[in-house]
Amino acid sequence: MWICPYCGGNHGLPFHDEQLDGVLCLSSDCGRFVEEDAVSDNTRDWDYMDL
Ligand SMILES: [Zn+2]
Repeated sequence: MWICPYCGGNHGLPFHDEQLDGVLCLSSDCGRFVEEDAVSDNTRDWDYMDL
């Protein structure tokens, strides 16, 4: 289960596009976007280096 590192809430909306990869916290008093620093970030760096 996802847990917001800022408020500790567990209501998150996963969000992914070309530039952002993470979860949007749905707590009304938080609302932060928490980027996921997952293993996939390393492979993404390699893609940029190919360009
Ligand atoms: Zn939060």
